Amino acid sequence: MTGPPLLERYRDLLARDGEAFPISLGEGGTPLIHARRLGAEFGLERLHLKFEGPNPTGSFKDRGMVLAVNRAVGEGARAVVCASTGNTSASAAAYSAPAGLPCHVILPAGKVARGKLAQALAAGAQLIMVDGNFDAALAAVRRLGEEGVAVVVNSINPDRLTGQQTAAFEVVDDLGDAPDALALPVGNAGNITAYWRGFHRYADAGRTPGGKLPRMLGFQAEGAAPIVRNEPVESPETVATAIRIGNPASWAGAVAARDESGGVIETVTDDEIIEVQRMIVRLEGVFCEPASAAGVAGVRRLASEGRIGPHEVVVCVLTGHGLKDPDAVQAEEGSLTPIPADLDSIRKAMGL
Ligand SMILES: *Cc1c(COP(=O)(O)O)cnc(C)c1O
Repeated sequence: MTGPPLLERYRDLLARDGEAFPISLGEGGTPLIHARRLGAEFGLERLHLKFEGPNPTGSFKDRGMVLAVNRAVGEGARAVVCASTGNTSASAAAYSAPAGLPCHVILPAGKVARGKLAQALAAGAQLIMVDGNFDAALAAVRRLGEEGVAVVVNSINPDRLTGQQTAAFEVVDDLGDAPDALALPVGNAGNITAYWRGFHRYADAGRTPGGKLPRMLGFQAEGAAPIVRNEPVESPETVATAIRIGNPASWAGAVAARDESGGVIETVTDDEIIEVQRMIVRLEGVFCEPASAAGVAGVRRLASEGRIGPHEVVVCVLTGHGLKDPDAVQAEEGSLTPIPADLDSIRKAMGL
């Protein structure tokens, strides 16, 4: 990526007076891809993918983490801490490194995708695995923050959501206007809250023509859908580990985004998530992680029900890179079994 770092690009909307942002890993500036083939499948002419995989650690979390860690440094923090389903820990670990800050991450044992774990380990974060889910880990982290042990860099840190607003700014800049609808997965509900605030902020600043705002379309996995069910889910379960959350911290923000924008928050099944994840990469070449496909699966359903019109401008946020969770991709039966290395065998295997 060229040009100024993300926080400098939108300094007028983000920074406090004279604030310095010494740390950047080249976050933001991610592509908005016109998904023509996928759109044709859904009957949508103007479907776009905001692909957050190209961020430094492979997810949108970097947009907020860069601001949270710069401010932690500015405030003389001694360490950072987070609870994580995986991507927050990968991002916190990376940004803590140039900051010279110890990074502690609390993770639900056995439920973090392999790539994310590797990232946090590689960057030297201290990993603490707990027998409990994300919600339990976040409850502990809140207490540690209150005790002043370390700066909490979960999305309960307001700097995280402020930084994440930049994704909405970029969507408007790239389209030249706000879309009619913006769809995304909802886990802890920080991102839907941040996008909605971001679209508002940009419109209020006179940077969105006509002050247009999109409908916000949030999707939860069926086994982890507290907002849809209107009550916390004790034991959330889904293949989309990034949204395996039963008691979202930004619950109220998500509901406000839905209601103020005339949008929806609904569920999609794990089968839909995996099927649509595959469609996105096979039709568009964009490989996202399972959670990211939840928003697209939801758009497919709404389009099929006529709740999104064929000419509407729709943006689906692909929140994280597919390489984060290689175990979510299944090889076809026998396709990885070796055959003899001669030309005839290879021709035969190719079906020629
Ligand atoms: C964090 C995350 C989400 C969920 O975002 P929230 O802000 O927690 O709702 C979705 N997808 C990916 C890839 C994530 O890392």
